[in-house]
Amino acid sequence: MTRLRGRCLCDAVSFEVRASALKLYRCHCTLCRRQSGTASNCAAIVDAADFAWVSGAGQIRSWRKATGYRSDVCGVCGSPVPNPLESRAAFWVPAGLLDPGGVLSVVAPRAGARGRAIEPAPVSRPHAAS
Ligand SMILES: [Zn+2]
Ligand SMILES: [Zn+2]
Repeated sequence: MTRLRGRCLCDAVSFEVRASALKLYRCHCTLCRRQSGTASNCAAIVDAADFAWVSGAGQIRSWRKATGYRSDVCGVCGSPVPNPLESRAAFWVPAGLLDPGGVLSVVAPRAGARGRAIEPAPVSRPHAAS
């Protein structure tokens, strides 16, 4: 197991992830494009038991769509930050927040017809609606 530290742009929010390997998923759905401001989101799903806030959890601002899509950001700098999945005890962790480490790999781009998301089965289905 490796401990990876992650942090937002201003360092107010930081967290730690334990992992022997982290699989990164890209989602190209319209929600993720708007949330990230770019062509896709890239994130890992981390079991809650392997995730811990280090600082700044109280600074986080959360926005939810009626469909359940959720975007959490640092209230100071606006960086996307991890948020808990509704479907199971795990966190969605934006890959770009993680400090460099040797346990990251992209398993597959996730894009479907007309930009709809393909679910990163079996771990979650957070972005079915766009
Ligand atoms: Zn910040
Ligand atoms: Zn998405």
